[in-house]
Amino acid sequence: MHIYFDNAASTKVDEEVLKLMYELQKTNFGNPSSIHHFGRNAKSLIEKSRRTIANYFSAAPSEIFFTSGGTEAINMAISACVNSLKITKVITSKLEHQAVLQCLESYEKMGLIELNYLNFDEKANLNFDELNEFLSKNPNSLVALMHLNNEISNLLPIKKVSKICKKHKAIFLSDTVQSIGHYQLNLETIEIDFIVGSAHKFHGPKGVGFIYVNNNMNIKPLIIGGAQERNMRAGTENVIGIAGMAKALEIAYEDFEKNAKYISGLKNYFVERIKKEFLDCSFLGESEEKGAFTILNVVFPKTEKSEMLMINLDIDGIAVSEGSACTSGSSVRSHVVEALGLDENKQALRFSFSKFNTMEEIDICIDSLKKYLSA
Ligand code: PLP
Repeated sequence: MHIYFDNAASTKVDEEVLKLMYELQKTNFGNPSSIHHFGRNAKSLIEKSRRTIANYFSAAPSEIFFTSGGTEAINMAISACVNSLKITKVITSKLEHQAVLQCLESYEKMGLIELNYLNFDEKANLNFDELNEFLSKNPNSLVALMHLNNEISNLLPIKKVSKICKKHKAIFLSDTVQSIGHYQLNLETIEIDFIVGSAHKFHGPKGVGFIYVNNNMNIKPLIIGGAQERNMRAGTENVIGIAGMAKALEIAYEDFEKNAKYISGLKNYFVERIKKEFLDCSFLGESEEKGAFTILNVVFPKTEKSEMLMINLDIDGIAVSEGSACTSGSSVRSHVVEALGLDENKQALRFSFSKFNTMEEIDICIDSLKKYLSA
């Protein structure tokens, strides 16, 4: 038996995406930069995919650039802000993904930016008055705040933040890696400079993603070499991956409401059962109610029996995430759990859901948890 509750880490590729990629791999093997018809076929597949993706965000195809995934897209946006737009002040939060934090910290270490962090309450809600105040003193800053937190599921009021940013002429980058494919983003109604996507988070292939760069931005590339992506990202394109990503997004948009309702139902049922069976459990951030329907972060008491909870669930065939890196057998707490100041005698486990999960899997998981949590 295998149960996969780690969909925030990566998702199972849709059958239809797999089929398409397999067929394309056989026939569409030309280099998109070649002039001959093999090359033109590959190029036209990329451009069709670009139009498909742009359309879902009400963006122009010229605003979409393909990358190797979310991390590269984030690095590209931040590098553009520092190197092309000469941004020197940045405001973010300690709850961002490492792709954002590490990249910003590296520019801070180089002495190129001054890095500031927004405060948040015990449920990880950011203080937007503080953002307003910071930007009124420091206009033309970069604001880097994620749309959907990959560990605690908190959702950013993206429109509200966009309005604050525009009022102060700040650049707004939102890490939308976890929300794309689950939440709709209409960029005609949200003024934003950069958003980023990663196909493997919405049932597409790994190693491919994209960045949306608002047409008003005049920036230089991060990766330099050939003239691919209109000189904005050198390197032969991952043609089949790009087509697979567009297909995965198409499938996500076909069943948006249905999937959201179904996955919300799973999460709500999980919450209900956890609350009923384990009275000493709680939830991290806003993951119990106001957070995204895809992620639930449960706080368990640490006892001798429950110490190895994630490993024991894995032995039972259930994959979840601790939101931590395991080094030489000792578990290091994630920076988000750390930033939220979780008690040392408690542990947080992240359960993240997809359309492929079932109620039955939740019942099995609860039974397994009971084995390790009952006194
Ligand atoms: N940002 C968030 C919120 C993520 O969850 C991830 C993936 O774990 C990334 C960025 C990085 O994306 P990728 O794996 O495509 O590099």
